[in-house]
Amino acid sequence: MSAATETGFTVWLTGLSGAGKSTIGRAVARELERRGAHVELLDGDVVRTHLSKGLGYSREDRDTNIERIGWVASRLTRHGAAVVVAAISPYDATRKRVRAWVEEHGPFVEVWVKADVEECARRDVKGLYAKAFAGEITHFTGVDDPYEPPDDAEVVADTVAQTPPQSVGQVIAELERRGLIGAA
Ligand code: ADP
Repeated sequence: MSAATETGFTVWLTGLSGAGKSTIGRAVARELERRGAHVELLDGDVVRTHLSKGLGYSREDRDTNIERIGWVASRLTRHGAAVVVAAISPYDATRKRVRAWVEEHGPFVEVWVKADVEECARRDVKGLYAKAFAGEITHFTGVDDPYEPPDDAEVVADTVAQTPPQSVGQVIAELERRGLIGAA
């Protein structure tokens, strides 16, 4: 468990908008708290209203956003927190950069929250795909902006085939397997 004197770690959820990052991130954070960890959930949508307010969706701004989140995650990891990040983080090189920052202080567990664009558009949780396909929003990941799938994710959560509890269970099982959290 990540009490102040124990190992911090970061769980980094990456995937398309609507793939299930926030859903899984919130549930994983709740479960970690239940087990006594000091948890910080950094959700991309929330971060963009504070830490990254004013940044847009160009490659440069996306990288700045992810680097800010990665920097905070690495600092928190250093102090023994269980950090859960839910952010599209579309660029592989940028994810690898923040992984290296976190790994200076503790484990980095990358979770590819995997759902295809068609399924995410069908869910259209935030109504953004309809706008992106209509051309009302541009630079939308998976529509007219790239998403580079990870080749080094510790967990691949296929949210088309799985229910949310199954995906959450997969993440928790990986953390248990690595000895980062105790059994329930
Ligand atoms: P994101 O944070 O990636 O933009 P959200 O978590 O906001 O995505 O939305 C994901 C949607 O997909 C929710 O409506 C959720 O109930 C649904 N969903 C279906 N299966 C899963 C799964 N296995 N894991 C997470 N979400 C899922």
